[in-house]
Amino acid sequence: MTEVLAVLKDKPGAGITVKRVQLPELGDYDVLVKPVACGICGSDLKTYDWHSYRQPALLKAMPVILGHEVAGHVVQVGARVTRFKPLDRVLTEPVLSCGACRLCEEGRTQICESRKVLGYETQGGMAQMAVLPAASLIKLPSSISFIDAPLLEILATAVHAIERVGLVAGQPCAVVGPGPLGIMLMQALRAAGAWPVAVYGTERSRPRLELAKRLGADEIGLSDEATITRDEGRFECAFEVAGRPEALLAAARLTRRGGSVVFGSGFDQVPEGLKLNAHLKNREVNLVTTTGHPRTAWDRALSLVVSGKVRIDGLVDLQVPLADADKAFQAAYTRESFKTVIICNPE
Ligand SMILES: [Zn+2]
Ligand SMILES: [Zn+2]
Repeated sequence: MTEVLAVLKDKPGAGITVKRVQLPELGDYDVLVKPVACGICGSDLKTYDWHSYRQPALLKAMPVILGHEVAGHVVQVGARVTRFKPLDRVLTEPVLSCGACRLCEEGRTQICESRKVLGYETQGGMAQMAVLPAASLIKLPSSISFIDAPLLEILATAVHAIERVGLVAGQPCAVVGPGPLGIMLMQALRAAGAWPVAVYGTERSRPRLELAKRLGADEIGLSDEATITRDEGRFECAFEVAGRPEALLAAARLTRRGGSVVFGSGFDQVPEGLKLNAHLKNREVNLVTTTGHPRTAWDRALSLVVSGKVRIDGLVDLQVPLADADKAFQAAYTRESFKTVIICNPE
């Protein structure tokens, strides 16, 4: 039995544990992957800080290896795996679906009745080596580096969020929250023909707003009271991707009559001051929710990157060795870094 270093959630409360764990046996439908890089995602931070909505799933799965944005090489494949071979470059597609329920049959695999997400509901890949289901992997084109690859998962999430509202071409759209998901969303909206695309953020996130501008945002603005009041009702769609209830309220206010406000991040609290009648019903504003991504969103995300319409390169600003994962989580949690990647095995 081989032991490998891994990043785990193994007890209730804030924090993570970095320790050696037994590598499970390779099942017939599994792939042994040697991860090179693994992204830390906003959702991993909910695991890290023991967020209330994550607790039931974590209590069931613990001890669980984190990591759902895993890029690396195939080392070995299980007896029934035909899609991959050793040395293939792969990336995790973290939503595991059953393939048989009504929603899977409709292609809505991201909300499969028995879906499981890698890295908090089932074992992830933030480790020196990982045994992962073949169904959770896609081939990574050679033009995309292992370091940049984790952003593809975020882009697939953005692509799906846009699909949830449908047509955005020629429509004014707003993104509230200039984090990695917001930046991917802004670029994907522009690629889909939305205009103008405005990105809003707090004073603290000014450098991220500047990044949004450099990457093509038509407008950037603060999400403060004065600006939101000024811009109220300007946008056909406004996407909340900040992970804060007040950002959902801002998005609802920015949306025009008959438009759509999209709840794209995760939290359970209702924003203070959100008036269901005045902000939503009376103006027939659709409240749209979105989670994860179906397989089809991955294909579109890959095309957007390979065709150069969306940039994912150069956005990772912190790379930390696996053994120092705690430092990496702290930097991501305090937003010192924009996008942090754990280096599981240096190339
Ligand atoms: Zn992610
Ligand atoms: Zn299903």
